[in-house]
Amino acid sequence: MVAYGCFSFMIRVGVNGYGTIGKRVADAVEAQPDMELIGVAKTQPNFEAHTAVERGYPMYAAIPERSPLFAEAGIDIAGEVDELVAEADVIVDCTPSGIGAQNRELYETHHTPAIFQGGEDSDVADVSFNARSNFDAARDADYVRVVSCNTTGLSRIIAPLEEEYGVDKVRATLVRRGGDPGQNSRGPINDILPNPIKVPSHHGPDVKTIFPDLEIDTLGLKVPATLMHVHALNVTLEDDVTGAHVRQLLEGEDRVYVIPEGLGIDGAGKLKDFALDAGRPRGDMWENCVWGESIGVNGRDLYLFQAIHQESDVIPENIDAIRAMFDTEDKRDSMELTDRTLGVGISGDPSGFSEQARAEFADD
Ligand code: NAD
Repeated sequence: MVAYGCFSFMIRVGVNGYGTIGKRVADAVEAQPDMELIGVAKTQPNFEAHTAVERGYPMYAAIPERSPLFAEAGIDIAGEVDELVAEADVIVDCTPSGIGAQNRELYETHHTPAIFQGGEDSDVADVSFNARSNFDAARDADYVRVVSCNTTGLSRIIAPLEEEYGVDKVRATLVRRGGDPGQNSRGPINDILPNPIKVPSHHGPDVKTIFPDLEIDTLGLKVPATLMHVHALNVTLEDDVTGAHVRQLLEGEDRVYVIPEGLGIDGAGKLKDFALDAGRPRGDMWENCVWGESIGVNGRDLYLFQAIHQESDVIPENIDAIRAMFDTEDKRDSMELTDRTLGVGISGDPSGFSEQARAEFADD
């Protein structure tokens, strides 16, 4: 791998849409030694815009007519979004579902490659992407879609199982958070919704954008929670396995955290506490969180529960998608670099501290 700090060129990255995903992608780009964050585009000068300015991110107006609002709020803008697009080697589009597809024309006009998010239909891009599962499919692609938080979570489990044992069929029930913590317009408030009511849900077909030959059926529900999604998985493997073997396999995956027994982490709430106590930015859990005790096997049938932090699991994937598109690193080196710079991966340490967080706490 190219040594830290010795990259032959820096990839100039712009982020269009600075909400839940965009602000995390911007911070993650900023942490990369081979990337430069050249700016972020926002529609309005809200608190997140002020935070971006504090962090030193050049601000661009996503909607030109709204440029004066930024000046009124005391924010100097570096320009309008089309200038950011023209300047960037790649744009990471983090706008709400459907807007990304509308933006594609802007990116094409400037011949700027772009990464879209999982809220877009798969035909927005040449390839749907998950680093662990199909890194090479994005090599040299101009338009890539990083799949949704749920599809990312499912792909990270399916890839090692498929490689190690072969998979006959996946059945997954997705208990989805109603909205993100800041989305006070979302619900349900006091209800449990089959969502979508139609069975199987659209999530299975989305996973097939990563694993085209996979047999998978998914069911979705929405519940009044904002913290995380929880998946109940049943995977029929091609061979008989033991739970211990599957556990060892998943423990070997850097973006999967097998929650050990005895830590008292019995739900999404405790997982978020665990992440915050460990000093993770915004309490992010980039890894799939699989309850070790839930890994159960009956012949070829594997069962497990996992929690997925919807706001953050796709962030390392966006970083790897950039390197895949520019063909600057292979899969293993890119994922390793991303994980090291962000602090992804919880080893055996029961506190969940990364080396970086440990050093910071020691300095205090
Ligand atoms: P968000 O609403 O939190 O952020 C979107 C941001 O884009 C907002 O700041 C909004 O003001 C801004 N915006 C709106 N129109 C714009 C435009 N025309 N140009 C530039 N910016 C504009 O949304 P989000 O949750 O960050 O989702 C972004 C994408 O990521 C969606 O495709 C979503 O499906 C996907 N995604 C979201 C999550 C999640 O849980 N939040 C997880 C995985 C993927």
